[in-house]
Amino acid sequence: MDFDIKRVLELAATLSTQDVFAQSLGVDENCFSAAKIVALVEKGAIDEDLSHLLSCITCVENTVQYAKTEYNLEYTGIHQRLRGTRSVGIFSNLLNPLFMRKNRREPSLAILGLPSRFFRVEDEKTKRISLTCNLFPAAEGDEWRVEPESLHIDGAIIAKKGTIYEQIDLTNDGKIDCLTISFVDGRLARRVRDGVANGQRVSDTIQVSGRFTGGTKEEFIAQARLEFVNPHVAEQLGLSA
Ligand SMILES: [Zn+2]
Repeated sequence: MDFDIKRVLELAATLSTQDVFAQSLGVDENCFSAAKIVALVEKGAIDEDLSHLLSCITCVENTVQYAKTEYNLEYTGIHQRLRGTRSVGIFSNLLNPLFMRKNRREPSLAILGLPSRFFRVEDEKTKRISLTCNLFPAAEGDEWRVEPESLHIDGAIIAKKGTIYEQIDLTNDGKIDCLTISFVDGRLARRVRDGVANGQRVSDTIQVSGRFTGGTKEEFIAQARLEFVNPHVAEQLGLSA
């Protein structure tokens, strides 16, 4: 058998890169790796990941820091892509009113926390879907407040006017790290409603957005991926009511 040292080195490089991304960045081996943090921003902090965030300020800081960096990359990226396209005129006309208004920035990213990735739907037609979630904003300053009236959900669940019922200071330093928010008057998006009615496990995302008070009134957005199931499917999965 031929021994291809170049190939072995290539493989070793790949493996060690994966190792680096899979290694804990926190205080012990239970802390989040870089790969995990990327996934948290995209899919939400769910179940034991949420419990870990609520008990480990190092992981909150790492995750929030990543969200800030990702936001800056994303923001510059969008502008570069737009500049490089011939349709820039059309796009900027479309986007101007939404994103590029003077003194208006893209929303910053936040991390959404949920107790379970399964969402049990008792009645898919109701307009009283309720959801409680945690929000870890990647705010620019240490001191931040969220305007309660600005909170809303889009995507698989649609609801306006969230209520902030808990402001959590994880380090007891007088600064808020996380909010607990609830929505009560939500409805399911049609695609989710139909799938749940047909007994499917519907995988879809929710986006929670809102605005900070004062200063720039900066907007933020957080996302999580959930699986929506009817009570029958929930029972098959062994989920409690
Ligand atoms: Zn940790």
